[in-house]
Amino acid sequence: MPLCRSESCADCLHGGQCSPRSDAMRMPGDSLHEECGVCGVFNHEDAATLTYLGLYALQHRGQEGAGIVSFEDGQLTAHRGVGLVSDVFKRHRLAPLEGNNAIGHVRYSTFGTSTLKNVQPLVVDYAGGSMALGHNGNLVNAGALRRDLEADGHIFMSTTDTEVILHLVARSKKKRFVDRLIGALKEVVGAYCLIATDGRCLVAARDPQGFRPLWLGKLDDGYVVASETCALDIVGADWVREIEPGEILVASGSGVEAFHPFEKVPLRKCIFEFVYLARPDSFIFGQSVDEVRKRLGRNLAKVAPVDADIVMAVPDSSNPAALGYAHESGLPFDMGFIRNHYVGRTFIEPEQQIRDFGVKIKLNPARNVIEGKRIVLIDDSIVRGTTCKKITKTLYRMGAKEIHFRVSAPAIINSCHYGIDTRDPSRLIAANNSVEEIRQFLGVDSLIYQDIAGLVDATVSPEDEFCLACFNNAYPTPTPAAYSCDGNTVRYKDTSTDHLHYSKG
Ligand code: SF4
Repeated sequence: MPLCRSESCADCLHGGQCSPRSDAMRMPGDSLHEECGVCGVFNHEDAATLTYLGLYALQHRGQEGAGIVSFEDGQLTAHRGVGLVSDVFKRHRLAPLEGNNAIGHVRYSTFGTSTLKNVQPLVVDYAGGSMALGHNGNLVNAGALRRDLEADGHIFMSTTDTEVILHLVARSKKKRFVDRLIGALKEVVGAYCLIATDGRCLVAARDPQGFRPLWLGKLDDGYVVASETCALDIVGADWVREIEPGEILVASGSGVEAFHPFEKVPLRKCIFEFVYLARPDSFIFGQSVDEVRKRLGRNLAKVAPVDADIVMAVPDSSNPAALGYAHESGLPFDMGFIRNHYVGRTFIEPEQQIRDFGVKIKLNPARNVIEGKRIVLIDDSIVRGTTCKKITKTLYRMGAKEIHFRVSAPAIINSCHYGIDTRDPSRLIAANNSVEEIRQFLGVDSLIYQDIAGLVDATVSPEDEFCLACFNNAYPTPTPAAYSCDGNTVRYKDTSTDHLHYSKG
């Protein structure tokens, strides 16, 4: 994923020399964005086409760029482009991607138009041959590692943290590609699900804390690796298992080999994958996303009941939570908004005025459902609150008598450093306002968020397996601000002990 260019951001690769990104480029919609999905196919004659289909299913994880690298016998062929998977890959673009193996990537980017250099999989030549790599997640020490590498003379071609991994692989003295990659991954800290190749084997890796999901599937004599099971389904692959936190899988001519080279550390799966990021028809972290979301709605109904006529969702990701709320409360669920699936993504439009128009045409209210009703409106999150405000205004204009806003996740009060685009807490309404202030801003009759206990309960897993940092400020790794590099030494400052650790001298 890309590193933040904001001058105030500790992740900045440019030491504050780059231009701050405008809101129009960074956060055009009032929603959170996952910043990547990965898919790869090994040993199938239609590898590139199947990877394309897998990326299609993972489109929700990144809409601004897509790429596929096919490979066989050490030869890599790549096509990458800016836009949706369907924009980037027409039939004539897929045909040259020959070989029985392929890796692919979709990404959500933040850098306006000049994004091609950041579209993955990144492909490079180095002393050991060629390699390609795609990454979902974010590394918290990438900025410091990059400055260290640059001080050693390394030249970077992109502004992604992913490229740091390539450089670490390239300077490794190990012989095998997988050993070089393992060595590189031992130097990075943060979230990663990786898919990589040296042209001969396909390597999939998940970070030891298991922030992001990654699955292994089986298809005929071949294998499929993907961020979510919805990608395995679309290509007709059998689900084998989730790739374990800290596991490296290597698919080669001799089958699939698993490595566990890292020290065991506490799990920190991203709980927000359940709330919003993953597709509801996927299974991640051992659970059905749809079922977790329904339980979120049920739990919300238990702690935040209200006398009302109907339950409505802000579609689409809030639909299961609204159904859960309706089941638990005994209130009827109704479709008060019809989503226009054919409208372009709002951020494509450059002007604020046009983007607002995009929001309006995306969700069309159904007057017959809304007029005269006391409505429980379920949403999965409130980011800036601007879209929610437009939605509630629309409902009142359509004749809603009361609106009781219920949020299936706790209030988002902190930035994510692990792959979701909430770097700047000043943009988060709940970081700077009380619930009552937010209620007044939205202009609704009542507003209640899920609490953390209700969120964790819905996952049917222990709380200490999850990262909850955006809700509770308990970051499971040092944040990027803890890392620095003075040109030849990467330092990590442990803020809990005020102690400096030297990771390289
Ligand atoms: S901070 Fe929030 S969004 Fe980021 S990994 Fe943790 S739970 Fe997920």
